[in-house]
Amino acid sequence: MGKKTLLWLQGLSCNGNSQSLLNAENPSFYELFSRVELIFHPEISYKENILQVLEKVLSDRKKVNFLVIEGSITTNKRFHRIGDYTIGELIDRLKNKVDYIIAAGNCASFGNIPVLYREHKDIRGLQFKFKERKGFLPPDFKTKSGYPVINITGCPMHPSWFTQTLIALLEGRKVILDKYNRPKEFFMYLSHDGCLRNEYFEWKVEAEEFGHKEGCLFYNLGCRAPMTHAPCNKILWNRVSSKTRAGLPCFGCTEFDFPLRENYFETKKNIGIPEDVPLGVSKRVYITITGVAKTLKNERLSKKLEETD
Ligand code: SF4
Repeated sequence: MGKKTLLWLQGLSCNGNSQSLLNAENPSFYELFSRVELIFHPEISYKENILQVLEKVLSDRKKVNFLVIEGSITTNKRFHRIGDYTIGELIDRLKNKVDYIIAAGNCASFGNIPVLYREHKDIRGLQFKFKERKGFLPPDFKTKSGYPVINITGCPMHPSWFTQTLIALLEGRKVILDKYNRPKEFFMYLSHDGCLRNEYFEWKVEAEEFGHKEGCLFYNLGCRAPMTHAPCNKILWNRVSSKTRAGLPCFGCTEFDFPLRENYFETKKNIGIPEDVPLGVSKRVYITITGVAKTLKNERLSKKLEETD
């Protein structure tokens, strides 16, 4: 039996997820595509152009197992065109031919930043428009494999979330999805899990500046990690770091509301209490716990890390 095939198409996209994919390490880009035949990728393929490839695929002379879409979906030729087709028309023609459709990144998953261009209302994600199931494909749409569009969210997605999901599907393993069709294996964790600043979070010791090792960035500096489903502090970026490890707040870029918020470097508050508190915690519990933590000071955390015993 030949290798399974993968076709990568782009809608309204900045290419960020393609760049991320090239950095894949576990498995690497090359390991992945030694197991899967890459029929076409807009930035990598050179032997055939997309129109030659589409001609074969649309006439059923070439089978596509995995259709990967990067970027938001539109049917407006003014915004996007591949030959005579928009990305929307191509998805329409391919959706019942392929075994799986994977949305690579937040634009293909939720519509993301291009949806903010409100003059054109048909821009959206594959099965979602932000949190609503009002994407390009119907809410109950499933591919031949029985899966809906599988959303690997993030702006960009982490390459391992994508490659490991693909390998799992390739090996016939069951991929359990959450309510936004994201693989739970990755998105059941919060970005907060594994952050090196958790002790500061627990004792409500706030970071004073970006880029320092000390302090938690949740209380003042906008960190969204306690409300964001993503394993960014478990499966590290480039195997070494994450935003919060580098001293910057998590922007919550794996969630549907990522581009709807303003000022990513500040925690929005009402009467001193964050508008959004960590998942699973009521505001009342939050106030009690943080009040106690603040009263019972942890002396070690008031020093620079290099100066602690
Ligand atoms: S900086 Fe963000 S991820 Fe790290 S402990 Fe604080 S809230 Fe959690």
